[in-house]
Amino acid sequence: MEPLRVRGRLFYVKRDDLIHPYFSGNKFRKLQALIRLPASRYRRLVSYGGVQSNAMLSMAALARMKGWRFLYAVKAVPRTVREADGGNFAAATALGMEVTELGYEGFYEKVENLKNSLGSKDLFIPQGGADPVAEEGVKTLAGEITTWKKAAGHTHLDVVTPSGTGTTALYLRRHLPSDIEVLTVPVVGDAQTLLAQWRRLASVDEPLPRILEAETKWPFAKPHPDFLMIWRELEKAGITFDLIYAPKTWRALFLEYEKTDRSLLYVHSGGIYGNKTQLLRYMNEKALS
Ligand SMILES: *Cc1c(COP(=O)(O)O)cnc(C)c1O
Repeated sequence: MEPLRVRGRLFYVKRDDLIHPYFSGNKFRKLQALIRLPASRYRRLVSYGGVQSNAMLSMAALARMKGWRFLYAVKAVPRTVREADGGNFAAATALGMEVTELGYEGFYEKVENLKNSLGSKDLFIPQGGADPVAEEGVKTLAGEITTWKKAAGHTHLDVVTPSGTGTTALYLRRHLPSDIEVLTVPVVGDAQTLLAQWRRLASVDEPLPRILEAETKWPFAKPHPDFLMIWRELEKAGITFDLIYAPKTWRALFLEYEKTDRSLLYVHSGGIYGNKTQLLRYMNEKALS
């Protein structure tokens, strides 16, 4: 837990990004339950998603650790990604990741076929680790936060974490006491997309995290001059965040927290390793001033 003073206000940051360079943040939490499995239980990990995904890199690290093969399905690997000498794809490939390119057409159908063709020694994990297996590790995180809140003597604590699949935010809500508010910002889609994701993992009457609407609609991972500015501001304040999820989330937080004096804990979910290639995208799009 680390204090962070920015825009004249004190925040707290849970430094889950420091767990491991490749296998950190909420990806570590979501895959944590698998670490304890005997390595002989599986021979191969199989998943799918984006070519620069943080989940992909963590799964590659986990597979390496267990001595499992790792098969990862993507739509296509752009040449710039294949040739980049840094970032998540390069690191995951160096860890032994095998990639299969399924093409843009009928991608999800093909993933379904791949999944159905797997054997008993293959472990399939949905995109981004959006799976009930993630609950155990996120529950541990919730326990650490609850203990810290008591020890630090915070009366009103809000916990915030950005949402991709929303898995982390949902399981935090499930395992934090109800007096701790859980906030999240949808980064991959909008609030509707996030609610649809939660319906897949949540029970009908379960309390959900509160969604902070970021006021801009913006395509996932597309460089945005405001995001770069906020990322730099946070780095200057003392902590390097990821360039994809964190800036949009902090942007919404700055608006919300001008109005309140509640204590706020930001769960740093890692993803720093992908900053190198994302910064290159900023330069290529000439958004860098
Ligand atoms: C994956 C990721 C998220 C989103 O986590 P979900 O559980 O999919 O909502 C947020 N921040 C960072 C840095 C991530 O890598």
